[in-house]
Formats: sequence, C-alpha cells, structure tokens
Amino acid sequence: MDEMKQGRREFIGVSAGAAAGIALAGGLPEIARAQSATISRQGRGAIAVASGNGLEAVRRAVDGMRAGEDALDAAIAGVNIVEADPDDITVGYGGLPNENGIVELDSAVMHGPTHRAGAVASIRSIMHPSRVANLVRTTTDHVLLVGQGALEFAKMHGFKEEDLLTEKSRKIWLLWKQKMSDVDDWLPPPKEEVDPDLWNMVERFTGTIHLSARDAQGEVSCVTTTSGLFFKIPGRVGDSPIIGAGLYCDNRVGTAGSTGRGEANLQNLCSYQAVEFMRQGMGPSEAGLEVLKRVAENTNRSDLLDEQGRPNFGLKFYLIDKQGRYGAASMWGPADFAIADDDGVRKEAAAFLYERD
Ligand code: ASP
Repeated sequence: MDEMKQGRREFIGVSAGAAAGIALAGGLPEIARAQSATISRQGRGAIAVASGNGLEAVRRAVDGMRAGEDALDAAIAGVNIVEADPDDITVGYGGLPNENGIVELDSAVMHGPTHRAGAVASIRSIMHPSRVANLVRTTTDHVLLVGQGALEFAKMHGFKEEDLLTEKSRKIWLLWKQKMSDVDDWLPPPKEEVDPDLWNMVERFTGTIHLSARDAQGEVSCVTTTSGLFFKIPGRVGDSPIIGAGLYCDNRVGTAGSTGRGEANLQNLCSYQAVEFMRQGMGPSEAGLEVLKRVAENTNRSDLLDEQGRPNFGLKFYLIDKQGRYGAASMWGPADFAIADDDGVRKEAAAFLYERD
C-alpha cells in the first residue's frame, strides 16, 4: 500500500462521537491501539470497496459507474468476475461445498435509490447467484428465495444448471472428509503425498466477496455473494443473503457489508447497525470498528474466545458513506481491502480491533 497516499487521503473532520469510537477502550480485552487506518478516507468520483479478493471487481464496478451504469448493476458485474473464477474457493464456481460435497451459494443485493433488496440462499448449481438475487428484487414482491424454490426461479429466468464443484474444490473437500476424524473409516493420505497448500485449506476457513458502491452523484448500492462456510451442514445459511446482516444500505446515509463468521454477524445485525452508526455521524471505518466492538462484547461462548477473551474468528466490514468517505474494519489485523476510485485501483489497510501476535 502507498503510505503517502494514505496520509494525504486521511479524513480529518471526524466528529467528536466518531473520535470517541476510535478510542475503543471500554471493557474489552487488549484492544489494538487506534492507528491511522482507523481514520476513514475521502474517495473521489465513483467509489467501490470490497473484500481483498475483489480487486478486479472494484475495477469493473467503477468502470461501469463511470460509463453510466447504475451503482448496483456495476457492483453485480464486478462480483460476477469472482463468481466465475474457479480459483476463488469461497464464491460461486469452485466455491467449497457443504459437508456432502454439494456447493450451496448465498447472495443478496440492495439498491439504495429504491431501497429494494433481493436475495437467494442455499441455491445450488447456479454460477451467478447475485444475478438471481437481483431478479428477485426486480421481478417479484419478495426479498428472499431459498433452496429448490430459488433454483426453480433461476431456471425460469433462463439460468443453466452447472456443476460448480471443480477438481480443486472436490479434492479439498475429500481431504477434509478423510482428515476430519480418527474414529471413522476414512483414512487420510500420507501428508507428504499431498500438496501442502491443499493440506492447509481443509481448515474450516470462510470467504466471500462483498462489494459496496457509490456513484459520483452519491447513490449507493451493495452486493454480497458466497459459497459460505466451508463444509457446512447442508441447508446452513450464513449472513450474506440476510439484509441487515451481510449487507445493508440507505441512500441517505451510506452502504456497508461484511465477510467472515456469518453466525456472529447474524446475531448482531452488523451491516444495518454500521449504517446506523454512520447516520449518527461516524466515519465508515469508525462505524465498522464500533460494530466489531459490539460483536466482541456479545461473544461469550468459550470455544469462540481465545485465552485473552477475544473472539477467535474473523469478521470484516467494508463501508462507504453518502459523502464518499470509505473504509474497512476487521476483527483481526493487519488486514486489507480492495478500493477503486478516481485515484486508481488498489489495496489499503483496514482498521482493526485486535492485532495478531
Ligand atoms: N460470511 C460468510 C458466511 O458466514 C462467509 C465469509 O464471509 O467468510 O457464510
């Protein structure tokens, strides 16, 4: 990241309330020191922010908005690149499957100017669930379709069923099954015969793309799309297709969305709350940190806490406000995010609550 650019772009006019948010002292164990990355920055022109896997997506989204596309159409076109990418094992085609080896996808879209949303959950065999979510928004009176109903709806609109499991994702899933337990009949292959990258991937990581967009006129929209938690129980739905959890926007205020442990987000409705914090005057990064603080305070299951009482999972937010300030906040840092605006396409450092040792 270009540190000089970061300094120049710091947003100075943080309100008193937001500044108080940055301090993040109260009651939580070992909160990382506030640092320059906690300060939201001012973007220029059309702006898109996304998770770190979204560099090409933010590029496409900003190009589209510059060419006159609606912010949501541009955002969806951006994440479609990642949905089609077989190398991204967290989204769309090539996403890691459920515990039975079947890829189930979640996605939602929200359009600021109309305040209308659409979503699909647990949809199988469709590479671009974000497009189906958008059709739920534009062609029905509903917001969320799930499972078989979502698939039938997609087919009705001409989407083709495809096998979303790639050779890579099938191998990772099979290895996970073989390694999971030593009290079943599955035998793992000798470690030295397995590609080390593959061996490590069978940890139950999560991943997703969220993209928030704001056009040069200040209209905001957002989209989230994912294959969800690796090796999940079939039918499990995460935060990504739930409006207010995995994403939310209000055209008078701004837009926010997340990646990371969906269950934590579902239990705190973080994207909605982050937009509300921005409504109260916080900058985007500060609002993201404040919801992470809320999640940390509400996490009390011992298996979700480390020895120091800190949440042991990842959760990140990507945010833009109506005025074009943008930022990202992560439970654990250092962490980065993708951003595109008139100053180019790049990764920048996210604010974070806790620092990895
Ligand atoms: N939030 C997603 C889910 O819980 C996964 C992720 O973003 O990593 O399904």
